[in-house]
Amino acid sequence: MRVTLYEREERLGGRLAGWPVRLDDGSRATMSRGFHAFFRQYYNLRGLLRRADPRLGMLTALPDYPLRHSSGRYESFARVPRTPPLNALGFVALSPSFGLRDLARMRPAAALPLLDVRVPEVYERLDRVSAWDFLARVRFPEAARHLAFTVFSRSFFADPRELSAAELALMFHIYFLGSAEGLLFDVVREPFPQALWEPLGRRLADLGAQLSCATPVESVEPAPGGGLRVTAGGVTRPYDAAVLALDTGGLRQVVAGSPRLGTSRWRAGVERLRTAPPFLVSRLWLDRPVARGRPGFLGTAGYGPLDNVSVLERWEGEAARWAARSGGSVVELHAYALDPGADREAEQDRLLAQLHRVYPETRGARILGSCHEWRADCPLFPVGGHAGRPTVRTPDPAVVLAGDLVRTDLPVALMERAATTGFLAANALLERWGVRGETLWTVPAQGRCGPLRAWAGLAAR
Ligand SMILES: Cc1cc2nc3c(=O)[nH]c(=O)nc-3n(C[C@H](O)[C@H](O)[C@H](O)COP(=O)(O)OP(=O)(O)OC[C@H]3O[C@@H](n4cnc5c(N)ncnc54)[C@H](O)[C@@H]3O)c2cc1C
Repeated sequence: MRVTLYEREERLGGRLAGWPVRLDDGSRATMSRGFHAFFRQYYNLRGLLRRADPRLGMLTALPDYPLRHSSGRYESFARVPRTPPLNALGFVALSPSFGLRDLARMRPAAALPLLDVRVPEVYERLDRVSAWDFLARVRFPEAARHLAFTVFSRSFFADPRELSAAELALMFHIYFLGSAEGLLFDVVREPFPQALWEPLGRRLADLGAQLSCATPVESVEPAPGGGLRVTAGGVTRPYDAAVLALDTGGLRQVVAGSPRLGTSRWRAGVERLRTAPPFLVSRLWLDRPVARGRPGFLGTAGYGPLDNVSVLERWEGEAARWAARSGGSVVELHAYALDPGADREAEQDRLLAQLHRVYPETRGARILGSCHEWRADCPLFPVGGHAGRPTVRTPDPAVVLAGDLVRTDLPVALMERAATTGFLAANALLERWGVRGETLWTVPAQGRCGPLRAWAGLAAR
């Protein structure tokens, strides 16, 4: 296959892109779209990264996924057993968020769908309920609800009142009852461009692919004699097939600009796709270090808009070298699902004030450099939205979709959904030329504990 990759932006990476910045102290650094956790269940994404480095040397493990609530409660996943269902039971037993009285108040029958999450059936059962209402129905303890939202629902960048409960249940399946890798993850050893995109870009170029950055695709239309006519950067070229691996705004734009592509029903489904509310990633280069025991990543709840804090020099080489030279710290703050009309400066100040609450030693720190990224390009998975979401295959066999916005019947989410649908899209095209594609791996597409499945099945009758 001869492949051309068109990228709208100047650099590869999408939501994991990075670019050079110069700090006030004159040093150079790489800013990016923000911290990303590479969970161990990301089998297909890891398979893709192995093509650039078979030993996955670009990743390094963080020892825990700690969560802190402003009430003082602290959760950790490091000591939770790995084997399902002991992991879920062990978590409940070890977590301060599940008191005995809380457990007695819960409605286990309402929670049974979590014991046997099947894809795509989970969408039939739970897509019309919000994550918020589902947990309220289960009478999930208040403190644990915060925890569930912090870990799962907020990672979809959405307010739990808007997010489909099916996506929440799917996450529970992927990380608890469906796998033994738990909620532990790896991060990149160097900024995203150096760790991911330069090696993958080189690999593509070595294979003969043509990479055209800063070249937005404007339209993809069926050609009169078969195949496609793709217009990108003002130039139209013929192709046999295309993978549209775009974000929500990009896909809507390309489809709107290609009036003869697909059917009216399919086009309406694309047109209906929405993005989650804006989010803010603030990176601060501080003149002094945070306290020694601060983890590389901390999920937070009850600290106003703050969703998590990372201390980059704990795991990223570039930040570690800067911190060693300057004696400072590189800290990143994330705030998701913000009000679109929010005063940006005020919101950035509020986020900094929350850092001062979480890590009080930063109160007196001078900020030597700061970058604030406001974006709104993550897909929204609204209540009832699953049925209308486009799939990898489109009405035109020459055009397939990939990305975390795409519907698939495999239990995957976020970066792993993007990678998995990417392989599925390539496989769908290769099949037309009789070429075998990539074998894919996921956690099981149904609950993996027979007795729990049987119990959930009885309740579903
Ligand atoms: C702050 C933040 C933190 C996150 N943390 C995590 C995490 O910890 N774990 C996790 O798994 N996921 C996380 N995610 C989600 C993750 O980033 C996405 O799931 C993943 O990047 C989706 O990849 P994608 O290829 O579908 O889309 P994107 O990465 O958005 O790629 C789409 C690409 O299409 C390009 N494009 C758009 N329109 C056009 C056009 N017309 N022509 C050419 N190119 C075009 C864009 O420029 C972009 O490069 C996080 C996201 C954010 C923003």
